[in-house]
Amino acid sequence: MKKKALITGINGQDGSYLAEWLLANGYEVHGLVRSEAFAKPKERLNNILPVLDSIKLHVGDAHDSIYITQLISSIRPDEIYHLAANSFVSHALDAEPAIVEYNFNSTHYLLASIKAYHPSCRFYFAGSSEMFGAAENSPQNELTPFNPRSIYGISKMAGAILSKNYRRTHNLFTCNGILYNHESVRRGLSFVTRKITSSVAKIACGQLHELELGNLEAKRDWGYAPEYVEAMWLMLNQESPDDYVIATGKLHSVREIVECAFSCVNLDYQNYVKVNPAFHRANEAVSLVGDSSFAQQQLNWRPQKNIFSIIEEMVTHDIEAIKQEVVL
Ligand code: GDP
Repeated sequence: MKKKALITGINGQDGSYLAEWLLANGYEVHGLVRSEAFAKPKERLNNILPVLDSIKLHVGDAHDSIYITQLISSIRPDEIYHLAANSFVSHALDAEPAIVEYNFNSTHYLLASIKAYHPSCRFYFAGSSEMFGAAENSPQNELTPFNPRSIYGISKMAGAILSKNYRRTHNLFTCNGILYNHESVRRGLSFVTRKITSSVAKIACGQLHELELGNLEAKRDWGYAPEYVEAMWLMLNQESPDDYVIATGKLHSVREIVECAFSCVNLDYQNYVKVNPAFHRANEAVSLVGDSSFAQQQLNWRPQKNIFSIIEEMVTHDIEAIKQEVVL
């Protein structure tokens, strides 16, 4: 019998790589997508187009408790990867409650349904380095206290605590992955790496003349998305559940990323990049960097591709996309 997996947010960067990984490992893959995705399939289902015939898509909302109960009871998956989240980094008062409500309630409905109807199902929760926020120590590991500063970080922290609580109180197999930034050619265009590589590609193809960015000195711990989804699967395939930091342990600045991306097309970034304070973020004093030694020991997982090779791959991909008249 094939193992069955359900991925919420299957059409995102991580969901699509995870779907490919699970298919390659013999799984029957089910994915949950919101109905809006079907309204704009070229844009929203883009990442899963190559595997669309090999997966089973379910159209619904992770935030609808009745739908989630029915879905889990009918599929009876061996593993659930809960990747869907509202990640809009906004401080607009009207946007914040919706972020918390969606991210927390969707996790709650999934866990409650697993407990009630299918308690042998293993559950992965997509935590985030943003849960550490203004971290007390550096690098951060699984014992570092959470201290989030964004609504997104708060919603993720609440979800991770809930997932751990179902592990301890109800004996469910739940794992929280605390993933640091991870990039790829499928990264959304609003994230800084993809904003840079898509703009560099446009500049190299004569479609753009300038790139506006925020804080060039901001630093992140950037890894490679296809490697990070393998860590998710490894977590659910251990003897016992736990939480894991997944990170490279290396900090690089936005300036280094820009310099690298422009050098891929033999241009000097200083001739094209303009700093626009509108893209500056408030409260960015701490540069989060992760210590993944626990994952390295327990899961035998290691970060491999460095951020400069990732950026090179993204620039090459984006130039090719523009040549094929794909709108970036
Ligand atoms: P995040 O870690 O989820 O916020 O990932 P992003 O890729 O959106 O941002 C990474 C870092 O790049 C942050 O420290 C931003 O402040 C910094 N940054 C600098 N300029 C920009 C910009 O124009 N857009 C974005 N998204 N980030 C920028």
